[in-house]
Amino acid sequence: MRKKTLTVFVTLVLLVLLGCKQTQKVSENSNPEPITEFDSSTQIAIEEAITKDGISSILKYLSSDELEGRKTGSEGIDKAADYIQIILRKSGVKPFFETYRDSFQVKDMAGFNVVGLVEGTDSSLKDEYIIIGAHYDHVGIVEPVEGDSIANGANDNAAGTTAVLKLAAYFAENPPKRSILFTLFSAEELGLVGAKHLAERLEKEAIDLYVMFNIEMVGIPMMDKDYLVYLTGYERSNFAEKFNEYSNNQVLGFLPQAKEYQLFKRSDNYPFFERFNVPAQTISSFDFTNYEYYHHVNDEFEEMDLDHLENVIESLIPGLTAMANSPEKEIKMHTK
Ligand SMILES: [Zn+2]
Repeated sequence: MRKKTLTVFVTLVLLVLLGCKQTQKVSENSNPEPITEFDSSTQIAIEEAITKDGISSILKYLSSDELEGRKTGSEGIDKAADYIQIILRKSGVKPFFETYRDSFQVKDMAGFNVVGLVEGTDSSLKDEYIIIGAHYDHVGIVEPVEGDSIANGANDNAAGTTAVLKLAAYFAENPPKRSILFTLFSAEELGLVGAKHLAERLEKEAIDLYVMFNIEMVGIPMMDKDYLVYLTGYERSNFAEKFNEYSNNQVLGFLPQAKEYQLFKRSDNYPFFERFNVPAQTISSFDFTNYEYYHHVNDEFEEMDLDHLENVIESLIPGLTAMANSPEKEIKMHTK
């Protein structure tokens, strides 16, 4: 009798637990946790990525043929997203929303940004946010060139994604006074769709956004410049001036072509400028003359200058730190 009661009890508990699991699964579907079962070589890549010298490892994995060019809606980008959130978690970066994923619909496909948080240490300044972002999607499979049809997007924008992940790991260990959101966008190549979605969502949440700092194509150095990377929308704010002052170094500069081609409006910074009207700008070291593989199957890991990428990441840290710690918001839009 007792045994039977126990069996009934255990069965009931199991049913309840299964029920819970079912509900959990439903909510996970709209905002899923990692699903990819990584093979052992990828797991080694993950272990390497979270070490100090993980730059090469992250860049190599994100631009590998396995991810098939990270097109939004593809299996390859799913793997990239899972990989990114594992790196964030292992680096001590928390999810900003319930999970790391910020899901949206684009055409008939599911897209998702990955959003991590390093909470600020100052009781009042931590309510002010800096966003450091990069898109991690690319264009996928394209017209074959000499038998290769995978556009790996190493420079565009596995390089920027790598920079954001390494900065996230750094700031998780060295949290500043303001909070920082580390945002990896999807569907940039489809018209900044992921960034538009997140900017709208954060506007609804009424976060106090100080600055949005976006990183694009930083895998190749510029030639004969007296600065490291250019800033889009240079003349719209005192961003570059302040940042260089903080860095005690000419990190950010003005590239005339960036203005000519209106690059300010052509990357994921722009939706944040539109929603929040705060300094929201992109850095890049692709200047249209220093790399011939833009959206080309040869945009591969082997073409990247890892020393340059590492230099960019390290050179950004002092400026970002000072920006995240200054008692007042010193970076401002120029009023016309
Ligand atoms: Zn790009």
